[in-house]
Amino acid sequence: MKIGFIGLGNMGAPMARNLLKHGHTVQVFDLNEVAVRALVDAGASACASPKLAATDVELVVTMLPASAHVRTVLTDENGVLAGIAPGVTIVDSSTIDPASAQAFAKLAQAHGNPFVDAPVSGGTGGAAAGTLTFMVGASEAVYAQVKPVLEAMGKNIVHCGETGMGQVAKICNNLLLGITMAGVAEAMSLGTALGIDSKVLAGIINTSTGRCWSSDTYNPYPGIVETAPSARGYTGGFGTDLMLKDLGLAADAARSAKQPIFLGALAQQLYQAMSSSGRGGLDFSAIIKLYERGEHA
Ligand code: NAD
Repeated sequence: MKIGFIGLGNMGAPMARNLLKHGHTVQVFDLNEVAVRALVDAGASACASPKLAATDVELVVTMLPASAHVRTVLTDENGVLAGIAPGVTIVDSSTIDPASAQAFAKLAQAHGNPFVDAPVSGGTGGAAAGTLTFMVGASEAVYAQVKPVLEAMGKNIVHCGETGMGQVAKICNNLLLGITMAGVAEAMSLGTALGIDSKVLAGIINTSTGRCWSSDTYNPYPGIVETAPSARGYTGGFGTDLMLKDLGLAADAARSAKQPIFLGALAQQLYQAMSSSGRGGLDFSAIIKLYERGEHA
């Protein structure tokens, strides 16, 4: 398939590489020229705008930070909708609020283009390995059409319901992830402050009832998981500001549903404290720094 791919960040770049590896022809756009050059080296062709990236393709994929970026990329004068042919499907894998996804779907449909929300889970490791989970909001027919392409980038492709339901699933997952990461950071910090060896404690948690992805795959305590951002100074991975954005999406959605999220609200304030102290660019597992002695005095 010929695919236009827009947004080559921590997630988008490895996802686009996997499309190339599976034999798709990929044309790319990103504001960051270094990111574009790296994909061109891997076999993609570079485009000068989202409009050109969406021209003469059979599918468009976007992987952008937040709803405002998706709106710009879709609707700008040089945006996707200015270049895309009628009937070509747009898959947005960014994490955004369900209401925006539904609004973008209406906009796209007015141009004759199906729009699919397909946010992902699995982190940068999952993106590189092609093992992401895709949470897809689309009609049955459009889901069946995009599934084979998503399989080049992910292992679990799940149809969550109509447009917006992929984002609902993603927001709830990340609400829980933000809470579990803070919980693991708290437990690891307490244990080591009480004198237990960090590796012993992590080993116990990971074979006991406290085990979760935040403890066994992405442990925030340095030296536990070699491939986790905690092993490389909290660089790369999933930014604190992106987690803060997702907890904000959960808070907004909870308000509209009149549903309390007690722990989510507390977690949101913890990531806000990290961001406000200038650490929003670090991986979200850097939340453990809030527990360092003196930090909270
Ligand atoms: P990122 O900040 O690393 O990458 C975003 C990319 O979008 C950057 O390369 C940036 O230059 C580009 N961009 C921004 N505005 C643009 C525009 N107008 N036109 C073209 N390109 C533009 O973000 P990421 O970590 O790749 O995350 C992308 C999305 O995926 C976010 O919504 C995030 O919440 C979600 N997500 C991230 C992870 C993760 O582990 N990083 C996991 C699951 C989901």
